[in-house]
Amino acid sequence: MKKTEIAIIGGGASGMAAGIAAAQKGRQVIVVEGLPRVGKKLLATGNGRCNLTNLGADYRGYHGEKPEFVKGAFEQCNVEDTLNFFRILGLETKVEDEGKVYPWSDQANSVIDLMRNELEALCQEVITGTMVTGLENTEKGFLLKTASGESISAEKVIIATGGKAAPHLGSLGIGYDLAKGLGHRVTDLYPGIVQIKCEHPRLKSIKGIKIQGELSLFKEQELIRKERGEILFTDYGISGPPTLQVSRGVHQRTSENLQKYIRIDSFPTLNEAKLYETVWMMVGLGGNKAMDLIVSGIMNKALGRVFLKEAGIHPEEPGRNLNEEKVQKLCNIMKRWDLKVSGTLSWKNAQVTIGGVSTSEIEAKTMESKLVKGIYFCGEILDVDGDCGGYNLQWAWSSGIVAGEKAAKECMPDK
Ligand SMILES: Cc1cc2nc3c(=O)[nH]c(=O)nc-3n(C[C@H](O)[C@H](O)[C@H](O)COP(=O)(O)OP(=O)(O)OC[C@H]3O[C@@H](n4cnc5c(N)ncnc54)[C@H](O)[C@@H]3O)c2cc1C
Repeated sequence: MKKTEIAIIGGGASGMAAGIAAAQKGRQVIVVEGLPRVGKKLLATGNGRCNLTNLGADYRGYHGEKPEFVKGAFEQCNVEDTLNFFRILGLETKVEDEGKVYPWSDQANSVIDLMRNELEALCQEVITGTMVTGLENTEKGFLLKTASGESISAEKVIIATGGKAAPHLGSLGIGYDLAKGLGHRVTDLYPGIVQIKCEHPRLKSIKGIKIQGELSLFKEQELIRKERGEILFTDYGISGPPTLQVSRGVHQRTSENLQKYIRIDSFPTLNEAKLYETVWMMVGLGGNKAMDLIVSGIMNKALGRVFLKEAGIHPEEPGRNLNEEKVQKLCNIMKRWDLKVSGTLSWKNAQVTIGGVSTSEIEAKTMESKLVKGIYFCGEILDVDGDCGGYNLQWAWSSGIVAGEKAAKECMPDK
């Protein structure tokens, strides 16, 4: 049996940060990662560039039953502290639009290589390719069992197994069973930062078309969230950054099971009057030209055809046949096209898990379990999910570093 001071289950973003932080405090650390290498998910982040944080990250960009829970970790390890942590490892970063931070190299590999190197240099051992399948609280500390039959005894355990999003990158949800086995409550889990499924018979004809628009998610008449940016139409619904950003609201429970829908404004920079004036002028100048050709002067032709049909106008109808009422109807659709929401894509497509181990059972300043002393949690396994744009990795780093440092501090004095 192997013996260590701190065992970390999961060598993803938060587990690696926790391991480095604990080992930097001089503690013996063993990290157990189920996949053949640590940090595999990081490779896929930020489209391979790893959007590792956001300069604007604070508790307002996070969600869960207690969004303010993140303040406890951020007070001790904020964005600046995190950037310093990486600078010391040798990583230089740059800031792009909306405060998003990337490695200078534009390669997620830079983050992984530097972290892996530090982890392997400082830790007692980094065991890869085997899952932790059992966790017992014994009189002599904690006992971990791995799928390959190894046993590890540890004074403290940090559970950093991630959630259920992108299971092909290691997050199979086993951590929830370990947490439940210790008596923890796990809230309902949903895929987050994910594409939205919509019901509309005309979606298939505009599959692959992208527009710069504004997207609002509504629950009946109540606006849940509004975002601007590139909207991509697909055969199942919509994708693109604003879609991913508002997708969380699709899972918002409503007691009356109210219908949710997406409203698309295809001309967010024009107010209704200006849009009407422009389209009316184009129709007037178009004369005998077909309406789909006239409309193609301001938007994608296939999408224009869909909007014309929605407004009850035949795409081949000559412009001169249209009256003010019909043009107004067309402009209404261009500013407000409503699509019925039927759900989101699944865990395979999700970037984050909504829900997790209840934060009311965790000390916000230490990440230690309130139920079982010596057990710590960090990262996505907790009921914390952040907005798109570097917020989720920032949570992984902050909570991981705090868990690692606090677990190290609470270990028995050096024997
Ligand atoms: C495609 C994609 C792109 C993303 N892009 C960004 C981005 O640009 N910016 C951002 O902020 N966030 C991004 N995210 C989200 C971010 O990657 C996660 O929130 C973050 O990695 C969570 O860190 P974690 O350590 O909690 O979990 P993970 O990174 O999922 O790590 C958990 C690790 O634990 C291991 N494990 C699980 N169970 C066990 C077990 N029982 N025994 C041993 N090992 C186990 C897994 O193999 C895994 O390696 C993205 C996610 C995806 C899927």
